[in-house]
Amino acid sequence: MHKARLLGSLALAAVIASGAAFAAGPQYKTAPIDTVYGQGVINPYGKFFTGTSYLQPLVGTDLGVVFNASNVTFEPCTRTYWHSHSNGQVLFVVAGEGRHQIRGQQVEIIKTGDVVIVPPGVEHWHGGGPDTWMSHVAFAPVPENNTPTWLDPVTDEEYNAPAKPHQNQQPK
Ligand code: MN
Repeated sequence: MHKARLLGSLALAAVIASGAAFAAGPQYKTAPIDTVYGQGVINPYGKFFTGTSYLQPLVGTDLGVVFNASNVTFEPCTRTYWHSHSNGQVLFVVAGEGRHQIRGQQVEIIKTGDVVIVPPGVEHWHGGGPDTWMSHVAFAPVPENNTPTWLDPVTDEEYNAPAKPHQNQQPK
């Protein structure tokens, strides 16, 4: 092979190789917060998230219980897409500080100890803070009794809108 053509082929191979590395997806980073239940694996549902998140299942699907609980850890700026759950969801923040919003309401700052109640069918998102990791337990009926509807990504403008502290609701 002509030397110039060989070098060209090597350069092309390098471009393909770097592209392949990029396509391999998010890189695992260890959370600088105590995720309490463990950081788990890179979230297999990441296509419905902007940024990188991690999933640690807490309740096996083989145990017969009718609820599901998973710990989700968000890197800074990572957030879910807008979405709803047909039978709702409760988020228990266990570490760090993040953001959450229900459609039509102000963005909320959520911290360790906060309990976020998402009623059935209500559009919302949840995620890390602009500069902070956040870890929450997502508690909801098992997937066959709680269909998610995934919508659009949360834009940077939506994500960075002025936020107010979350206030836990007092159960009636
Ligand atoms: Mn949700």
